[in-house]
Amino acid sequence: MKYFSLNNREHTSNFEDAVVRGLAPDKGLYFPEEIVKLPASFFQELNKLDKTEIAFNAIQKYVGAEIPDSELMDIIDETLDFEFPVVDVEENIGSLELFHGPTLAFKDVGARFMAGSLGYFIKKGNLGKVTVLVATSGDTGGAVANGFLGVDGIDVVILYPKGKVSDIQEKQLTTLGQNITALKVDGVFDDCQKMVKQAFLDKDITEQRRLTSANSINLARWLPQMFYYFLAYRQLADKNKKLVFSVPSGNFGNICAGMLAREMGLPIDHFVAANNANDTVTNYLDTANYKPKPSVATISNAMDVGDPSNFIRVLRLFDDEYSSVKKVLSAYSFDDEATRKVMKKVYSETGYIMDPHGAVGYLGLQKYLKDKDGYYGTFLETAHPVKFLDTVEAAIGDKVEIPDVIQALMDEQKKSLQISNYEDLKGYLLS
Ligand SMILES: *Cc1c(COP(=O)(O)O)cnc(C)c1O
Repeated sequence: MKYFSLNNREHTSNFEDAVVRGLAPDKGLYFPEEIVKLPASFFQELNKLDKTEIAFNAIQKYVGAEIPDSELMDIIDETLDFEFPVVDVEENIGSLELFHGPTLAFKDVGARFMAGSLGYFIKKGNLGKVTVLVATSGDTGGAVANGFLGVDGIDVVILYPKGKVSDIQEKQLTTLGQNITALKVDGVFDDCQKMVKQAFLDKDITEQRRLTSANSINLARWLPQMFYYFLAYRQLADKNKKLVFSVPSGNFGNICAGMLAREMGLPIDHFVAANNANDTVTNYLDTANYKPKPSVATISNAMDVGDPSNFIRVLRLFDDEYSSVKKVLSAYSFDDEATRKVMKKVYSETGYIMDPHGAVGYLGLQKYLKDKDGYYGTFLETAHPVKFLDTVEAAIGDKVEIPDVIQALMDEQKKSLQISNYEDLKGYLLS
């Protein structure tokens, strides 16, 4: 498969170069030249296949011969080594729980797949050593650290804002050791992000280290997210209802992968982009005007994005036609008060505990399904409630049970280096 830059169709790349680079040289996002269509028979027989076989069939043509089939199978096997259950919450509404991975966040799948792919390219070739440099406001760092832990030839350097990530998230970043280094930045997330961007443009650094990023613009993190929708469909097909998925969205990588799966033939009727107060896409669908704005802080902070980087891929999927996007995608925005309220309501009525992101997804679903019949709606639960413990316990007025993996983590020793400015980062990378 070839990939072109969304800034310039003439610039193309194979899978490996696109994964190693992250962004095209002209800073465009990579997009596949062709959307793979899967035969109807594949979907009819989905329940005869296991997770790995389903995922392999979905992604194989996007990778092509660049990773041999048997290696690709192994990478997928390791990537999907946990459960993806759709749990009935109430009549015709289910929660697709994506938080059963090692860091209890859906980003585990993309991070593991990228680590496997990049690890393979390093093992086979002449890339030399690679440094994955990433800024995190919370979940990305933990998933990336865990996914890349112990992968030969890769060093991971994670920048996170001091005092701005939860205790659990900080533990997930700073307790692994080996090839993972956590840099605690005296500043906010935007400062971390700026330093990372500057490093990518700094010849002193790039002449000495091959840098790559691991955020959701990278194909190897974006594409495997389509697996969730195939695995959910396998559990939902025999409901014989029209299917709608509501996706709590920040940078729109996850929902865009779901929409890609639909274009490949997966029988999904409609998508809802569930947004918090960061409502750029909600406004776009209302007005046909895309107007990015600065992000605002909310309790569903992984979605605090004012200019979602992957939305340009959503548009491309529909030939940049506003009317075509609108047929398949709805978007709604909810504030923190509505989010807290619905967490409490669903907990009192059903006993089901949602994290703030999943709760926004639930709200979006509810709004879309109002006055509609014949649907089964699924919202994506993108993080375990324990990752947002204080917010969740305050909202539901009850305790959340702490999973064993988190309990164990709490006893580990945090280890990070503190930096205050770009020169510190540069000094570290050149040392
Ligand atoms: C990253 C994240 C999101 C947003 O996903 P996008 O693909 O950026 O839209 C939602 N919820 C949680 C918990 C996340 O970590």
